[in-house]
Amino acid sequence: MEAMAMVQNALGVPAQLLNRDETLEREPELSGDLIGSVYCPNDGVCDHTFATLAFAKQARKAGANLRTGARVTEILHDKGSATGVRLASGEVVPVGENLVLLANSGVLPLLKPILQQQEIMPVITQMPQMMFVTNPHGKKINHLLGHAHRTLSVKQLQDGTLMLSGGQSVAHTPEGRWKGSLSSTALGLTNAIATLPFIDESSFLKVDASRIESCTVDGIPIVDTPAALHNTIYGFAWTVHGFAIALGFTKYLTDWIVGGEKPQALEVFSGKRFQGPLAN
Ligand SMILES: Cc1cc2nc3c(=O)[nH]c(=O)nc-3n(C[C@H](O)[C@H](O)[C@H](O)COP(=O)(O)OP(=O)(O)OC[C@H]3O[C@@H](n4cnc5c(N)ncnc54)[C@H](O)[C@@H]3O)c2cc1C
Repeated sequence: MEAMAMVQNALGVPAQLLNRDETLEREPELSGDLIGSVYCPNDGVCDHTFATLAFAKQARKAGANLRTGARVTEILHDKGSATGVRLASGEVVPVGENLVLLANSGVLPLLKPILQQQEIMPVITQMPQMMFVTNPHGKKINHLLGHAHRTLSVKQLQDGTLMLSGGQSVAHTPEGRWKGSLSSTALGLTNAIATLPFIDESSFLKVDASRIESCTVDGIPIVDTPAALHNTIYGFAWTVHGFAIALGFTKYLTDWIVGGEKPQALEVFSGKRFQGPLAN
């Protein structure tokens, strides 16, 4: 925890080490069985559905044509440029100046046919599981709580309901395994009750494992251009940091797409880091 706080502070993200008593002062519902915590005053919780719909509204206002339920099955290209994308329906949607791929776990299958041999992407997919439980005694969690090893994450929704995530990812088939697993649910609830004992009196509401996340082996997203297609930009493998870092990436990707130059700040996210120690 000390190392984590030190690195975050060095990078300009305020982080304060709290001992056991200081932690319990901030979060009285936590089990006393803890050694301390890292407090990040700038951390927050937001409604991602609201934020996503707000992005969509602003994009439409700016003239974007948004289509949903349109699965892309193939990138069409000619002479080093993406020229269109084929949809599952067979329809071909032409590409204007740039093709930007931000479909999370859907990016790699689309890129694979055009990646060159040296373009290695060590990415795995995960289905983190969300569970929702009631809050019968109106207890209040004051912060977004996360276990140091990501075994548990607790967020309180506006109506007091608790969302429990982190922990065990659910195995999945290409078709998805949308309802979570009993073992993952049992382990997640056990961790949650050990951390916040009042949850033992909650009622179980639902479990949801419908969201597929892509993760790199080094925990850092990949944002780059494939060697074979100069007008294509991709960003994925957010490794469960995706929402928190969305605003920063949105700005840099916009600068890149509009200005035509890759911002220097995005260099560290290049896929070239996997191509050997001297490749960068
Ligand atoms: C349980 C859980 C808890 C999380 N908690 C946090 C958190 O506390 N903080 C945080 O910052 N992040 C969190 N995350 C991670 C964050 O939600 C994701 O990183 C983020 O949503 C990724 O955004 P995205 O737009 O890249 O991908 P997604 O939200 O996954 O959207 C990708 C979209 O692309 C579509 N798609 C895929 N393939 C194709 C295709 N071939 N054609 C057309 N469309 C396609 C998918 O259907 C999907 O709609 C959590 C994730 C989960 C699952």
